[in-house]
Amino acid sequence: MPSSYSAKENKALVATCSSCQKSLPTVTMVTLPGRDNGKPQVWAVCIPCANKGWRPPGFNGVYQVRPE
Ligand SMILES: [Zn+2]
Repeated sequence: MPSSYSAKENKALVATCSSCQKSLPTVTMVTLPGRDNGKPQVWAVCIPCANKGWRPPGFNGVYQVRPE
């Protein structure tokens, strides 16, 4: 096994969940496309919120439940 496996994690990447307002690493979040005032927009939401059913306004895609 090659030993160059550590550059993958980047803990500096943090975003705020659109549902619970917590700041979380982006690796624990998903982005969901929706609409804001008729314009396409992407919302970042944590996986637990997405799994509980939070969806942005105008969401018309498909969300596949992911392991938390
Ligand atoms: Zn959340």
